[in-house]
Amino acid sequence: MSETMRYRCPNCDHVYDEDKGEPHEGFPPGTAWSLIPDDWSCPSCAVRDKVDFEVLEN
Ligand SMILES: [Zn+2]
Repeated sequence: MSETMRYRCPNCDHVYDEDKGEPHEGFPPGTAWSLIPDDWSCPSCAVRDKVDFEVLEN
């Protein structure tokens, strides 16, 4: 089983799923959260940055 994680924006509930990545943002499926730049902003609301995202418990 894979151990990919999901992270949620506390502002708009946008979810970053490591399995899916953010292809339109330049992060292909499988991109680990640790590879996302710290100054990456939420692609949905652009209000919150990576550091604000919360880990989603599966
Ligand atoms: Zn957001």
